[in-house]
Amino acid sequence: MGEKVASFTGVKGFVMVAWGYPKNFGVVELGPNLFQFNIPNHEDRESILEEGPWVIDNQVLVLNRWKEGIEGDVEAFKMAPLWVQVWNLPVHWISKEVGRKIGAVFKEVKDVIIPQMGGKEGRHLKMFVTVDLSKPLLRGTIVKTEGTMIWVAFKHERCPDFCYNCGFVGHGERTCTKQQEISGRNVDNQFGPWLRAGTVKGTPQTKQTKTNMDKNKRYWKFLNGELVERV
Ligand SMILES: [Zn+2]
Repeated sequence: MGEKVASFTGVKGFVMVAWGYPKNFGVVELGPNLFQFNIPNHEDRESILEEGPWVIDNQVLVLNRWKEGIEGDVEAFKMAPLWVQVWNLPVHWISKEVGRKIGAVFKEVKDVIIPQMGGKEGRHLKMFVTVDLSKPLLRGTIVKTEGTMIWVAFKHERCPDFCYNCGFVGHGERTCTKQQEISGRNVDNQFGPWLRAGTVKGTPQTKQTKTNMDKNKRYWKFLNGELVERV
């Protein structure tokens, strides 16, 4: 989804590779940025729906199970799966349980992992959540425990392009229709590149899928009209 319109061949090429060439796969373009994928193999289909996010040219490919009328359901295509990192947590709060609680600010928490990375990376949590793209990206939330309140910051992994003015995914500042709030005070820049997680070394490999999907090939971009892997 987004203001950039993805080409049929681009999308087809992307999903073929990212989804590991599913058997008897078919794709139909139903409209601008609206595609119908036909994946007859049950296992392939389920893992593709479970896995994600699928990010093509910095735009998130939102998948929905086919049902009558789904192509007109604008809301359904605004629910995107994304990995969100949680920073600023005191070390003793880093647990799956806390992750699930914090994740309640999202539409759904599918998974929480505690990355085992030391050093400069610092300790943080990672949540696999369903993000409602009809709202601005969340910058963080306040966590209350034992009388203390702290602000935890969210960083989005492989973050799709979003507007640094209003925080919505799908357009940039130049085409933003939301008026910058003008007040006597300086306007805080609420949204910016800090909502993106840094280069991720090693993708979150939580479980091995049965199919031959290549998780490392799920992020692509266009370069001079060619589809190339995004490292
Ligand atoms: Zn905007």
